[in-house]
Amino acid sequence: MAPRFAFDNSYARLPPRFYARLDPIPVAAPRLLRLNLPLAEQLGLDPAALASAEGVAILAGNHIPDGAEPMALAYAGHQFGHFVPQLGDGRAILLGEVRDRDGRRRDIQLKGSGRTPFSRGGDGRAALGPVLREYIVSEAMAALGVPTTRSLAAVATGESVFRETALPGAVLTRVAASHIRVGSFQYFAARGDAEAVRLLADHAIARHDPAAATADNPYRAFFEGVVRRQATLVAHWLRIGFIHGVMNTDNCSISGETIDYGPCAFMDAYDPATVFSSIDSFGRYAYGNQPRIAQWNLARLAETLLPLLAETEEAAVEVAQAALSGFATQFEAEQRLGLTQKIGLPGGEPDELELVQALLHRMAQNGADFTLTFRRLCDAAAGPEGDAALRALFRDPAAIDSWMPAWRARLALRPDAPEARAASMRAANPAVIPRNHQVEAAIAAAVEREDLAPFEALLAAVAHPFEERPEMQRFMQPPREEERVLQTFC
Ligand code: AMP
Ligand code: MG
Ligand code: MG
Repeated sequence: MAPRFAFDNSYARLPPRFYARLDPIPVAAPRLLRLNLPLAEQLGLDPAALASAEGVAILAGNHIPDGAEPMALAYAGHQFGHFVPQLGDGRAILLGEVRDRDGRRRDIQLKGSGRTPFSRGGDGRAALGPVLREYIVSEAMAALGVPTTRSLAAVATGESVFRETALPGAVLTRVAASHIRVGSFQYFAARGDAEAVRLLADHAIARHDPAAATADNPYRAFFEGVVRRQATLVAHWLRIGFIHGVMNTDNCSISGETIDYGPCAFMDAYDPATVFSSIDSFGRYAYGNQPRIAQWNLARLAETLLPLLAETEEAAVEVAQAALSGFATQFEAEQRLGLTQKIGLPGGEPDELELVQALLHRMAQNGADFTLTFRRLCDAAAGPEGDAALRALFRDPAAIDSWMPAWRARLALRPDAPEARAASMRAANPAVIPRNHQVEAAIAAAVEREDLAPFEALLAAVAHPFEERPEMQRFMQPPREEERVLQTFC
């Protein structure tokens, strides 16, 4: 029972210099570890067919489905600020594009599918641990309402990959609005291939900003759209404590989705300087730097678009700068709304925003857990019975005690009943995030004992992040001292 994909591959209609056509490299012994049933349905794919032997062969890269046009995409990118003119899909193959149930075009990509012309020194493969991490975190992000690539399936390859040691290998099926990155534009701009930059922009407009096509200056409207989406995305990240970890321009998606779950992590105790990634020695991609870095990435995109933005370079720079300044406007608006929602004062007057900032400051000074503090604040909004659990999160409870009266005074100025207010706050403050120590524990069980039960349990919990069911309690707790994860690796 082979699954049928209704492929319509628009990227394959771009000129051959945009990609390398090749098939994924087959693996020894494919075994399905996880299939995302709701996502399969949404993509118009039959879950039973995907789970069949023929389906798993496709998800492993061992069989090419009808209509697929497998390819590795070319792109460049700034890695930690240093430009690399050729990166590209070194371990991923785009099978093709399908239309989902809502008519949206979605890429179906295999990650860990073997070497490609872009592999450089790499083996083209993925280890089981990172595949499971991407699966968990991307699905958690989707449930949290954050734009993100999705995970359709994880398949064990039956082969070892060699990192520091031999590890079990796996392939992830990633679903994305597209895989066009800032680095895709940089690839052609760096080669002086102005025609390709224009073709790529036209392709991206058709895909992500169809309204821009009819604007006075379509390329400016397109760039403004990318700026808007990135500003919105980073505001999402900040309000849930997410740290991407490797915001290189090749990991900055034109669609505005979070892409590339490598050394990413959620913060436990609030501290804007938090960095987890083992390769981020200087904290370039620290939690609090993310807005600045997104804007830097967008400036790199603007550079590639200059010839399209106006007749003269001077005029183009002016257009680009005006559009870039829209980042701050959009980000600050999103941030104001996002943060004030978290304390039950949505839309916030300036002094209400200051109130959140004062709370964050006290959290940072007292090692308070980011997620739990806001969640317990929801209970405190319902009534003073909730205060004790909130106070317990602060090293010095006096720090929160002295903040509460001003907050309660502001809440009292609004008409909503305490329970209704608590309920709307609970919709803005997740109870469950994929905490690093839980993610690591789920990965260790799978890798060391072939036990997927912890992975499944964590996945079930993060799928409903705003609920607080009894079985979720253990996933809500911050790590004990000895459980803390200080570094992540990609
Ligand atoms: P990333 O840091 O995940 O954004 O990857 C940066 C570049 O390294 C991209 O061009 C990837 O395709 C490539 N890459 C990462 N891992 C591998 C691997 N195991 N084999 C080949 N290429 C890889
Ligand atoms: Mg990447
Ligand atoms: Mg990566």
